Amino acid sequence: MLISKSLSHQKIDHVLVGQGPPDDRPRLGESCNEGTSFDMWGWLADIGTEKYLYTKSHISLFSGRLASMIYISDPARSLESIRDYSMKQNLLFNLSCLSHVNRIGFDKTLYHSVVKSPYCRYEMARATDLIHNPDSDRIELIALDNDLVIRQPRFVFDTTHNLLSQAAKVQTDWLSDFNRVVWTHLNMDEADVSQWWRGGTNLMRTDLEHDNFDGISWLIPLGKILSVGISVDAERYPRERFSTDRLMDLTLAAYRHRGVDLDTGRVELKPLQELKQRYFVRSRAYGTNWLLAGRAFIQVWFASSAGIWTSLVAAHLAPEMLKHPQCYGKLYESELRGLLDFHNQLDSLVSGPVMNQPIELYHFWSRWLAGVPRRRMFHINLLHRQPLAKFNLRLVDLYKIIANSSTLPLKLLLTLGIFSIRVRQPHSMNNLGSPMGNYRQYIKFGLNNAANNLLFLMVSLWQHCKKKLSSTKQYFSFKQKI
Ligand SMILES: Cc1cc2nc3c(=O)[nH]c(=O)nc-3n(C[C@H](O)[C@H](O)[C@H](O)COP(=O)(O)OP(=O)(O)OC[C@H]3O[C@@H](n4cnc5c(N)ncnc54)[C@H](O)[C@@H]3O)c2cc1C
Repeated sequence: MLISKSLSHQKIDHVLVGQGPPDDRPRLGESCNEGTSFDMWGWLADIGTEKYLYTKSHISLFSGRLASMIYISDPARSLESIRDYSMKQNLLFNLSCLSHVNRIGFDKTLYHSVVKSPYCRYEMARATDLIHNPDSDRIELIALDNDLVIRQPRFVFDTTHNLLSQAAKVQTDWLSDFNRVVWTHLNMDEADVSQWWRGGTNLMRTDLEHDNFDGISWLIPLGKILSVGISVDAERYPRERFSTDRLMDLTLAAYRHRGVDLDTGRVELKPLQELKQRYFVRSRAYGTNWLLAGRAFIQVWFASSAGIWTSLVAAHLAPEMLKHPQCYGKLYESELRGLLDFHNQLDSLVSGPVMNQPIELYHFWSRWLAGVPRRRMFHINLLHRQPLAKFNLRLVDLYKIIANSSTLPLKLLLTLGIFSIRVRQPHSMNNLGSPMGNYRQYIKFGLNNAANNLLFLMVSLWQHCKKKLSSTKQYFSFKQKI
């Protein structure tokens, strides 16, 4: 649908194949990354989706006995200010437009907007077959289940799971084992913002020691709705032993155990949704007249909030792809492959040992943050197609170095002052969800975090030097001995 919007915007006639308006089931893809949020307030604003957007001010992680977060934007900011800020495209670090989106309303609104365009012919059908010519690497025919056959299409944007990749024999590299995902919406009686965790995207790593099961959960507030989900390894937690209901009960209990109360004020629990899936990337993203758009090409760990963004990148490049498929296909493929680093980082969060030390969480968030400027600059460039200013390019390079650096103090120093990282270890697990001092006072909270982080930085620098010093001492005493 995003591609259709982009083509209509450029007055390009096209056929959109789909199964009618989206239904009312809770959908995946509610936390927007920096690029998606930017478009939600800008490029997509004209279709009236603003009413489905909610501010996202932090990303938090419950890991072991620790609560941690990156604090990104002022939780008390008004929607008007976001509208203004998001238009200032060249502000590299302005992330105040970060948002959550209620996909039920958003997808419906997008659907009605795209199908009414005079440039879009909507075919309510399923594509059942594609014919790919391996010599020319072209899609030559598309068959639909309403008996329509489209011969020699000029270009095909595929968003199905694997129709085109199978026809063109594109290899799939699996990035994970199968996981089971169970999710729903909890309808609450009010949009209570007094609890800090209702101000942003929350992740929770459940573990055997505290919860009796390993998994990764999300909690995303959408006004009066709380979107909750859990992902577990499908082989370790099969349906026969862990029913859909049981997995959700375990997840709600894990939040309760951390002092995050999802029971009080709950009016309704929507029917549970379930999916079994794996993360993957295809060996290539494009051919002579085709593109694997978004999820048809790559799907990385959900915590990256990058799913809608991959579709948006395809949408922005769609008009250019028609003219120069090789050039823009290459750009698209390499940029989306850039998400693999992020995927690997998240994979170790889920599959690796639970992070129990504050330093591990500082490391984790610094690495996370180091990837933001590149995606943000790329996205701004996508919209304006102007070469990036040299200064911005240098910044992106700098952040690339930091992202790949294993030196924590360097990372911390450079992310300090731009974003704040907070790590907290209360005496009891039940207090993990209790108030984070000054959460709604942006300046105070930021300054407080900066002071903490500076202290932490100095301590880690000191430990680093001490280690070096003791290994030098050991070396000299060893030399003396021999
Ligand atoms: C657990 C989990 C959590 C996630 N959380 C986030 C998040 O917080 N933020 C984020 O950005 N992303 C997230 N994602 C990713 C996100 O859900 C997807 O990337 C995004 O919804 C994909 O959108 P899409 O339109 O490409 O695919 P879909 O929403 O799957 O749409 C594909 C469309 O193609 C149609 N279709 C399929 N086959 C055919 C056919 N043969 N013929 C015609 N039409 C067909 C379908 O009906 C559907 O309408 C998450 C993913 C998972 C697994």
